[in-house]
Amino acid sequence: MIIKKEKSEIENFLVDAANYQGECEAVCFPENEADILEILSDANKFKTKITIAGNGTGLTGARVPEGGLVISTNKLDKIIEINIEAKYAVVETGVMLRDFQNEVTAKGLFYPPDPTEQDCFIGATIATNSSGAKSFKYGATRNYVLELKIILPNGEVLKLKRGNNFADGNKLNIITESGLQIEIKLPNYVLPNVKHAAGYFTKNNMDAIDLFIGSEGTLGIITEAKLKLLDKAENLISGILFFSREDDAFDFVDDARFQSGKHRAVKDETNINARGLEFFDFYSLQFLKDDYPQIKENHKAAIWFEQETTLETEDLLFNKWVELVENYNADIENSWFAVDNTELEKFKNFRHEVSSKVSEYIAKKGLRKVGTDTALPVEHFRNYYSDIKKRVVENNIDYICYGHIGDCHLHLNMLPKNKTEFAVAITLYGEFCKRAAELGGTISAEHGVGKMKRNYLLEMFGEKSIKEMADIKRKLDPNRILGIGNIFDEKYLND
Ligand SMILES: Cc1cc2nc3c(=O)[nH]c(=O)nc-3n(C[C@H](O)[C@H](O)[C@H](O)COP(=O)(O)OP(=O)(O)OC[C@H]3O[C@@H](n4cnc5c(N)ncnc54)[C@H](O)[C@@H]3O)c2cc1C
Repeated sequence: MIIKKEKSEIENFLVDAANYQGECEAVCFPENEADILEILSDANKFKTKITIAGNGTGLTGARVPEGGLVISTNKLDKIIEINIEAKYAVVETGVMLRDFQNEVTAKGLFYPPDPTEQDCFIGATIATNSSGAKSFKYGATRNYVLELKIILPNGEVLKLKRGNNFADGNKLNIITESGLQIEIKLPNYVLPNVKHAAGYFTKNNMDAIDLFIGSEGTLGIITEAKLKLLDKAENLISGILFFSREDDAFDFVDDARFQSGKHRAVKDETNINARGLEFFDFYSLQFLKDDYPQIKENHKAAIWFEQETTLETEDLLFNKWVELVENYNADIENSWFAVDNTELEKFKNFRHEVSSKVSEYIAKKGLRKVGTDTALPVEHFRNYYSDIKKRVVENNIDYICYGHIGDCHLHLNMLPKNKTEFAVAITLYGEFCKRAAELGGTISAEHGVGKMKRNYLLEMFGEKSIKEMADIKRKLDPNRILGIGNIFDEKYLND
């Protein structure tokens, strides 16, 4: 097994896409489970902290080490099987999502989880329960995980198959491959009824596999996953629609979201039934306008929509979308409809560029990302958005806002120019998380908590709930070595 210690060779592991920075003694590159077990055996003996690393595109500091060793999953990168008939795939944890999506698509199948950043590893997308544009219709990664192989921090191997092991009320029993039984008491907090990815999943009578999905590298090392695949849609229609009033864009989305929900519930694919609805504000468009001449000065907002079609429904659905758009004053002449795969790819790049430009901006300023990941119940979404925007403007902080508007989940990224503005942005960020939680929303809909948002999670769920999570962690990680500082502060493990 390769182990690297030179700063120049490991510096990529000491930072993530939010520019959260850390340090470690060495990075290990296991090539199989035996290598991982060897690292864990020593780590348990010497109480060495271990951080698991995917590809470093996380936005919460979760993969950034604060001392100890890093386990890189780079070399665990085999697609073991794609079964076309039974529609599933088995993969190692370090398979790049982009490569996996390409392989699956080439076989006529479809894997819905689709974070905007595709250069991430599948194991990490499971560890963070990633979602993306298509989650509006298809939900988060959790919905596609059938089986997991996990090495627990104590070196025990655990195999979980969805449907095989349910909690009895809030009592969950798991049995490892060696026969060790671990009894877990599930936390009592209630998950918000919005897209949500913060803290351990909990529900009475839940499936054991769901505890590990979204546990952000704290409860075990995922080494292998069996994933559910769907049939690939025959075709897609997609458009980027420009609006000269932001309110028109929001009214359009309200209508499209409502119609999509109604038709999805009865599986009606011959009516408006978007699989994604994404938003770009005026400043996002300004960020992009040099590369996209379609963007005009009077464009104050844009919406990207996508819907699956067949040869029979294509024209019908195209007309339905045009009819809908016409009701909301979109600039149809300059809007942009995809007619082939090259155009569809351009739309994806359009969306990706805006997020990656924010990461570039903050790295250049030497600051950390301060962007909301809050999601709100639909009835509170518009007021919340207008209130937080007002607070940012009142404080003279530049910002851009974009994201998964179908799920009432936008990323308002503040763009502080210096450390003083950064401090103001952090205070505002805390205010926005608190307000989202008060309104029945979440502090994190998809990026997770990591090390950057644990105080906001504490505020959202309260200390009792954090202690319940820490109890689970102690059961599975008696020597407190794995992913320490993710989700909650280390001090809760010492109680
Ligand atoms: C431009 C941009 C856009 C993004 N858009 C989205 C989006 O739309 N939706 C979304 O959900 N996210 C998004 N993200 C965040 C990020 O891409 C996801 O969180 C992704 O899942 C991280 O994958 P990674 O391989 O980079 O993991 P890393 O950042 O390296 O690690 C993430 C976490 O996973 C844990 N982990 C990694 N491998 C394992 C394993 N084998 N077992 C247990 N734990 C493990 C790590 O310890 C860490 O806690 C975006 C990021 C960027 C930069």
